Formats: sequence, C-alpha cells, structure tokens
Amino acid sequence: MAFNANTLRDDFPILSLEANGHPLTYLDNAATTQKPQAVLNALMDYYTRSNANVHRGAHFLSDRATAHFEHAREQVARFIHAPQNSHVIWTKGATESINLVAHGLEWCIKPDDEILITSLEHHANLVPWQQLAFRTGARLRVLPLTSKGEWEPEYRHYFNAKTRIFACTHISNAIGVKTPLKEMLAAAQSVNAFTLVDGAQAVAHHVIDVADLDCDFYVFSGHKMYGPTGIGVLYGKQHALDVLTPMQTGGEMVRHVTHNSTEFNILPYRLEAGTPHIEGVIGLAAACKYLSSQDRQAMLEWEHKLARYVYDELKFDTRIEIYSPASDTSIVSLSVPGIHTLDLNGYLDSQGIAVRAGSHCAHPLMAQLGVSSTLRASFACYNTLSEARRFCDVLLEAIEILG
Ligand code: PLP
Repeated sequence: MAFNANTLRDDFPILSLEANGHPLTYLDNAATTQKPQAVLNALMDYYTRSNANVHRGAHFLSDRATAHFEHAREQVARFIHAPQNSHVIWTKGATESINLVAHGLEWCIKPDDEILITSLEHHANLVPWQQLAFRTGARLRVLPLTSKGEWEPEYRHYFNAKTRIFACTHISNAIGVKTPLKEMLAAAQSVNAFTLVDGAQAVAHHVIDVADLDCDFYVFSGHKMYGPTGIGVLYGKQHALDVLTPMQTGGEMVRHVTHNSTEFNILPYRLEAGTPHIEGVIGLAAACKYLSSQDRQAMLEWEHKLARYVYDELKFDTRIEIYSPASDTSIVSLSVPGIHTLDLNGYLDSQGIAVRAGSHCAHPLMAQLGVSSTLRASFACYNTLSEARRFCDVLLEAIEILG
C-alpha cells in the first residue's frame, strides 16, 4: 500500500487536461475533489447493468439495484465506523444533512434555549441554526474560537443547562484549522446537548470514527471526498435519529397510509422520502472503497506536507498574510494587502492553476480575520510537490505584476 501521488494521479483522468494552455494544477479541492476512474466506472456500471428503482419493484433489475444500494450503505457505514447501517441516512450533501437535523429537532427547542456553534463555521452550519433560533425564540450563541482553532478553557461556560444543540465544524473550510473537537463534544455532552459535527472538510483526509467521537450527528458530502455531487450523509446515533421529525414526507418513508393517517417507516427510510440518488450512493461507496484501499496515514501526511511546503515558502514574504496554521492542515489561505484576491485568482487561472478566492461561505470568520476574502489553495492526495512549487512561483509572479 505504498503511497505515491505521482502514480495515484493516473487514477484521475481529468488531471491530464490542460487549462489555458498550461497543465491543469487543481488546487480547489476544498470546494470539490476530482473523481477517480473507480468512481466513474461504478457510475457507468450502475447505469449499464443495474438501473432500476430501489426497494419497490419485484424484478431482477430492481433486486440488483436494491442490493447494490444497500451494500453501499454498509460500505459507507463501515467507512465511518458507524455501528449500524441504518444509522447512515442519504442526503444531498452536508448542507441538507444539517438542515434535516435543524428541522427535525425544532419540536424540542423552546424560547430561551441556546443553540451553540463556533466562530469558524461555514454558512451551512450557521444559517440553519440561526433560522431555527428565529423560528423558535431560542438564542444562537457563538463559541469564539481563535483563528488558530483554539478555545480558552473559560469558554466552557458557553455550555450550560440551556444549551440544547452544539454544532461545530471538524475542520474549517476557509482556513484549514482543526477544532478541539473531542474537548468541545465532551463539554456539550456534560450539559446533555445534542451534538452535530460538520465533517465536510475532514472525510477526505482523516479516518473518521463516529463511534469514537461519540457525537449524535456527523455530516459530510460525497463530492469533497472523491465521490459524486448530489450525495451526502447524515450519520446519527439511534436515539438522535429516532427523535428527528422528517423534513420531507412522501413515498419510501412510509409503511402505511390512509387519507387520515400515515404510519412512518423504520430508519433509515423514515428520513429518506422519495426516490434516492441511487447512482450517487453507489459512486460514494466506490469513493470510500478507493480511499480505504490507500494508505490513509501516508496520504494525510503527504497532503499536509504540500501545504507545509507552501506555508514555508511564503511565510517570510512580508507582502503576504497567511491565515492557515503552519502544520497539520491541507489548506493555505492567504491575502496580499493591496491586491484583490480575485485578481490573484485570475492570474493563477491564466497559468492553469485553479484555486479559490472569496469568503468561502464564512462571512463571520472573514470579519474575525479582518478581510473580505482570502485566496485558498487546498490540497488533495493527487497533488504533487511540483504543483505546490508552481503555485508559489506563479503567486509571487502575480504579486510582482499586480502589486
Ligand atoms: N461545511 C463545510 C465545512 C464545507 O466546506 C462545506 C462546503 O464547502 C459545506 C459544509 C457544505 O457542503 P455542501 O455544499 O456539499 O452541502
């Protein structure tokens, strides 16, 4: 299982493209990752050999599609160490998973209850809670993490008898810091709050063990971990999923319906109304299988090494502000005061380098950093040291030209 980014790249056909006359250097992986051939094959195989609706039909193809679909659930459950397959609920992505929980817990939120998030959240893990607070009269509180992802022990008092829900990111998408997750989850559990972890930026990099984390909910998107778009996961503990009011109702999530009443189905189907994204599920399982066949530790160290290389190359340049940590991250988020990040982005793009300039769906965090946007290079397993070097060279060239 030796890990080598240069050979692993061959698994990703899109990486051999040219962009604007240069070899494509894809460093926008925190937005979405590219897909390995194994995932593309699984999608093609589904449509050429198994396409039918699941759970409903009683014919050869429907049985086959249902078997693949439920086997995929088992593979994804194993991938995140979920104790039971039925604890994995299919959603469109992390955003829908969080909305499902925010909607599903509304019945138990009263005026003056508190919903706690951190200052590092993506809008997907902020707006649903803010809107829930507006609807119920609860108070949205924000645990002030530093931009290094640290929290002061005195902030423990944010967790109190009124805290009903604690939702926090595993890794910040905007600057790449890891949160002190276990400590914060323990603090939330000590006050009996529901806990939700937004793992959108973690699953592609870290081995996730939801049983060990012991959170009530863990959410992520397939497209950020080499799987298809439009598919994501809401993992939940049995008791936590059991108390969620379904956000959507209709077919599949019911057992028996009359004009006067509906008996809901058991988990996981109770929370999966309508025809699911079957090929997305199958593609996601293929992505889990692909990742599991790699040396995950070596992969993680490689991604961190690339970000560290960029950090070290740029850290002494007084024109550049870096917001990401020096180590233990695969993201380098920076700004160059006096030059708009979109202009830097444009120059890099003209040289075939794809990065992200903007607020990264994290306006409050940008305000905390005192900027309106940053330029973010985010690394994945298939990136190489020469790509990291090229990013630095072209960025410095851009600063010379635009500065
Ligand atoms: N949470 C984090 C930390 C993210 O980075 C993202 C996407 O960038 C999301 C949530 C939302 O993911 P999606 O748009 O796939 O639902």
